[in-house]
Amino acid sequence: MKSESSINPADTLQDWEAAWKRCLDIIRDNVPQRTFQTWFEPIQAVALEANVLTLQVPSQFFYEWLEEHYVELLGKTIRRVMGREGKIEYRIMMEGRSHQNPASVKVPASTHSRVALESNAIELPLSMKDPFAIKNPYSIPGLKRVAIDPQLNASYTFDNFVEGDCNRVARSAGAHVAQKPGTTAFNPLVIFGSVGCGKTHLAQAIGNEVRQKHPRKSVLYVSAEKFINQFIDHSRNNEVNDFIHFYQLIDVLIVDDIQFMVPAAKTQDVFFAIFNHLHQSGKQIILTSDTAPKDLEGMQERLLSRFRWGLNADIQTPEFETRQAILRLKMQHEGLEMPQEVIEYIAYNVQTNVRELEGALIAILAQSTLNKKEIDIELAKRVMKNFVKTAAREMTIENIQKLVCNYFNLPYDRLLAKTRRREVVQARQITMFLAKKFTKSSLKNIGQHFGGFDHTTVIHSCQTVENLMDTDASYKDQVQEITHKLQLASI
Ligand code: ADP
Ligand code: MG
Repeated sequence: MKSESSINPADTLQDWEAAWKRCLDIIRDNVPQRTFQTWFEPIQAVALEANVLTLQVPSQFFYEWLEEHYVELLGKTIRRVMGREGKIEYRIMMEGRSHQNPASVKVPASTHSRVALESNAIELPLSMKDPFAIKNPYSIPGLKRVAIDPQLNASYTFDNFVEGDCNRVARSAGAHVAQKPGTTAFNPLVIFGSVGCGKTHLAQAIGNEVRQKHPRKSVLYVSAEKFINQFIDHSRNNEVNDFIHFYQLIDVLIVDDIQFMVPAAKTQDVFFAIFNHLHQSGKQIILTSDTAPKDLEGMQERLLSRFRWGLNADIQTPEFETRQAILRLKMQHEGLEMPQEVIEYIAYNVQTNVRELEGALIAILAQSTLNKKEIDIELAKRVMKNFVKTAAREMTIENIQKLVCNYFNLPYDRLLAKTRRREVVQARQITMFLAKKFTKSSLKNIGQHFGGFDHTTVIHSCQTVENLMDTDASYKDQVQEITHKLQLASI
């Protein structure tokens, strides 16, 4: 084996790097790509001595996960690369405080360890007063102790969250977090992905599962929008400290759609204080976002760097197989049956996201009940035609932004940048114009989706587009072409 590695192109690598590289080549062929990226790419080989290859892994949890799920694969691989005597030893990088198990830590804290936390001044006073004197916006009437209504929807569970390639990593990380909230390396757990793909469902399923498994832990689900509004209300009444203290009591905090915090700098400050306190106290934080955290422009870097402490797991649009499985599960739930060809027809035609998939299914079920007709392919086809029209009315600002970016070949973050460059201004104006025309959003809301323009800018943009369309035929063609694409895209 040794002799082989010396004729390997990895010649310039250290022995252990070369050996690990060869292991990776084998592993890559034996696991799905996402598994490989999540569990094997982050591993670094750091030493090779007497047939023992030392691998550095990011956390205790990571190590346990590897041992639990890939021990066999790793064993076989190492023996193939290094011979029968080949062995693996792990070193665990220190990251979360919950992993301070000195016996298992063989390397000192990594550079982005918690030391960084202390050096960041927290602007808001954090002293814990009597927790029961705190105003509790979710109190359950009649109870003296702090009892928090978790604001969860009980129908979002793991049982009815279909697993597929699109969500496997996020789902299994979520299941682990639910088992051991606050004590895994997945803290925070950031679930991200486009609209309608199951972020809220999964986040709530984690909350519901924690409530079952750990009834003594307080769980709270809150949308970022609600969080912002609560914060605004509390600051009006000079009750910001109460607000912060309340949130610091939670054991498992779920904040949905954190992208809405982007334009809210002050909310980010308080969230930072809350986040630090919870994380330091070993409490679990679960966040969802419709944008990858690294692309959340306008979110403070100190928050973004904390989001990286845990696991960022994406959910993608479901593949054909998963779409079918979701439809089957929903039908089963309703106690109904549907011919396989109809399931395939819907799954094939609705590719955008799960919410639309559900919409199509409900529409078909409704038609079949109303007309007392069996569900067959003809009925499905008829309904889907109408469904397409409904979908078109439900265009979102984000979708329009993405489509316009695509059309002009403009990166998404450029569209949101506050620049006066011609190509950006033009794309921005057209997007605002279309958002006003096709969504029910207020002008203010549209402005906010561009990183905080006010409504006058939106009005001005719409007027500019209308004027240009009147005076410039090729410009008009362009806007019409985009409009046409938009209508097709939402089918
Ligand atoms: P998001 O928060 O990402 O916009 P949601 O969680 O609201 O999406 O999901 C939209 C709808 O699709 C919900 O009704 C949810 O129950 C359903 N859904 C999403 N993913 C799945 C899945 N994997 N299995 C079953 N239902 C799903
Ligand atoms: Mg959601």
